[in-house]
Amino acid sequence: MESPFTHDALHTIVNSPYTPYATAAALVVPTVVIAKRVMHRYMMRTYTGVPDLEALGTQAKPKGNVAVVCGGSIAGLLTARVLSDHFDRVVVIEPEAWALSNEAADGVTTTGTCTVAAEGGSYATLTHKRTRVYQYTAMHAYQVLLGRVLRKLFPGFDELARGRGVIFAPAEMNARLSGWGCRLPYAEYGGTLPEVPFTSRRTLEGVIRGCVRAANADGKIEFVHGTVTDFKLSSDATRLTAVTMRDGAGSTRIVTADLVVDCTGVIQGGLKMLTRTLNGNPKASSTLATLRQSYDPKIDHVTIEVPYPANFEENIAKIKLDTGVTGKWAGPKYLDTTKVAWWYTLAPDPDVDYRILAAGRKDNGIVFFAGGWTSEMPVTLEQMREYAQGVKSDNPVPQFYFDILDLCMPVADRVTVFEGKVNSCSRVFYERAADVLPRNFVAVGDATMRLNPRFGEGVTKAALGATTLDGVLRSYAPSHKAFGATYFQRLANRTQSLWDGSKWSDYGRETTTPCEGETLEEGKFFRWFKLRLNRVLERDDAAGSAMFHAQHYLAPMQYAMTPRIMLKVLWEGMFPTAPFERRA
Ligand SMILES: Cc1cc2nc3c(=O)[nH]c(=O)nc-3n(C[C@H](O)[C@H](O)[C@H](O)COP(=O)(O)OP(=O)(O)OC[C@H]3O[C@@H](n4cnc5c(N)ncnc54)[C@H](O)[C@@H]3O)c2cc1C
Repeated sequence: MESPFTHDALHTIVNSPYTPYATAAALVVPTVVIAKRVMHRYMMRTYTGVPDLEALGTQAKPKGNVAVVCGGSIAGLLTARVLSDHFDRVVVIEPEAWALSNEAADGVTTTGTCTVAAEGGSYATLTHKRTRVYQYTAMHAYQVLLGRVLRKLFPGFDELARGRGVIFAPAEMNARLSGWGCRLPYAEYGGTLPEVPFTSRRTLEGVIRGCVRAANADGKIEFVHGTVTDFKLSSDATRLTAVTMRDGAGSTRIVTADLVVDCTGVIQGGLKMLTRTLNGNPKASSTLATLRQSYDPKIDHVTIEVPYPANFEENIAKIKLDTGVTGKWAGPKYLDTTKVAWWYTLAPDPDVDYRILAAGRKDNGIVFFAGGWTSEMPVTLEQMREYAQGVKSDNPVPQFYFDILDLCMPVADRVTVFEGKVNSCSRVFYERAADVLPRNFVAVGDATMRLNPRFGEGVTKAALGATTLDGVLRSYAPSHKAFGATYFQRLANRTQSLWDGSKWSDYGRETTTPCEGETLEEGKFFRWFKLRLNRVLERDDAAGSAMFHAQHYLAPMQYAMTPRIMLKVLWEGMFPTAPFERRA
C-alpha cells in the first residue's frame, strides 16, 4: 500500500516549529493520565479499605488451624466471619453469656422499660441483657462502607435486616456544619446517594449475630463463654501460642491459637495482656508503655426514642425539610421524607456552642439525639425544644426541626430515654511497636481506637478493621514476620485522619482535657481550616463530593484538600461570606 506521507510531507512535519510541542503533548498527556490513575490506586489502597472489598467474603487458602477472637461484639463478630474464610476453626471468647444466646441472634434486644429519676425529671429507659456494652441503646449512625462490608460478608444481610426493621436509605444526614448545609454528590449517583443502613446499635448487633449464625452452617466459628485473661508467648518470643481464659464456671482454660485478635472494645484488653506477657523484655515494656494516647472530651449525650404518632407520614410530608444548600445545584432543595430517613444533624463550632443535635428515623420509630461537651441533658421533648432553641451557630436551627418535634408531642409521654457520658477517647499506636509485638497479634474495633461518638464512626471503623485484616491475610499468613506490622500500618494509614479530626475538633472546646503532653492549642490550624471549609461545602460541588466520599470511607480524606479546595478555603478566610458566629 502506498504511504499517505510523501517525502515532502514528512519533511514539512519534521521541520515544523510545532512538532516538538506536538511530540511533547503526545507523550505528556498519556503519562499524566497514567500517573493520575496509578496515584489514585495508591491513594485508595493506602488510605481506604475499598480495594479490599473485592475479595472480602470469599474463601481463601488456609492460613492456620485456629484463630482466637477475644470479644464477641460487633468487631468480634465481623472479624470471626472474616477469619472463617482463612482458618479451619475460629474461637470467639465472650464474657457475656446472653450475647451468645439464640435470643440475642434472634433479634431480641430489650426486656422492657424502667423508670429513672434524673435532674430533668423522671423518665422511662429501655432495659436489656447486654450489660457489657454501655452504648447499647444510644443512638447510632453509620457510613456507606459499613453497608458494603455487611453485604459482602453476609449475602442474606438485607433480607434479615429489613425483616427486623432496618431502613436502607440514601446516605443523606442533612448535616449542618456550624450551621451550613453540605452539597452532596446526587448528580454522580443519578439523583440519589449510595445507601446506608439506618438502625439502632442494638438491632444491628442482633442482625449481625443472626447473619453470623446463618453463615456458620459448617460450625467453623465456635462461641465460648469466658473472659480472656492472658496471652502465652512462644519460646523465641516472636508470636503468641495461646490465650488463657476463665470460663463461665470460673475454671481456667488454655486455647491454642495461630492468630489472636483483640476485639475487647474500649477496655483495650490486648494492650494490658501484652504488657504482662512481655514483662520480662525491657525494650518491649518501655515501648508498650508509650503506645496508648487518651484524652477526655467530657461528652454528655441523650437519645430520645419516640414511637410514630398517628398520621405521622401524612403530616411530615407537609413539612418542608430544606437542605440548607443555596445556589444552583443538582441535589434536592427539600428532602422527600418517603425516601430519606434522616432529617437533620447539627455539628456546631465547638468554640461557639457545645450542643449537637440530630433527628431521624430508626427501626420502627423516630429518634432525637442531643449532647455535647459538658452539656445538660434534655430528657423530654419539651426540654429538647428549649435545648435546640438555645443553640448558636452561623445559621439557626431550622424551623422544620421544631415542626417535627411538634408532630411528636401527642406521644411525648411514651418516649424512652438513654442518658450517657463519654469520658475517654483513646488510640493505641500499635504500628509504632512493630519490632516488639508478637507477629500474630492484631486488634480490631474500639480495641485500637475509641473515637468521640458524636462523629458516629465506631462501627464502620470496626468493619474497616475486619476488611483490612482480610486483605492482609490474603497476602501473609500470621506466622509471617511482617503480618502484624503490615496490618497495624495499613490500619493506621486508613484511620489516622479519624483520630486527628476527632481529637482536634474536641480540643476546640475548653472543657476537654487533652492527651498527656499536649495542650488544647494542638489542631488550631485544622479548626481554622474546617470552619471555613464548612462554608465552602455549602456552595462547592467538588468539595461537597470529596468530603462526602471521605466521610463515608469511600475515598481518602486528602481528596478534600486539593489545591482548588484549599484556595477556596483561603479565599473564605480572607473574604468571609458571612460573619462568624461568636460565643456571647
Ligand atoms: C454513646 C455512644 C454513641 C456511639 N454512637 C455511635 C454511632 O453513632 N455510630 C457508630 O458507628 N459508633 C458509635 N459508637 C461507637 C460504637 O458503639 C463502638 O465503636 C462499637 O460498638 C465498638 O464495637 P467493638 O466490638 O469494638 O466493642 P464493644 O461493642 O465495646 O464490645 C467489646 C466486647 O468485648 C468483650 N470483652 C471485654 N473484655 C473481654 C475479655 N477480657 N475477654 C473477652 N471478651 C471481652 C465485651 O464483653 C464486649 O462484648 C458510639 C459509642 C458510644 C459510647
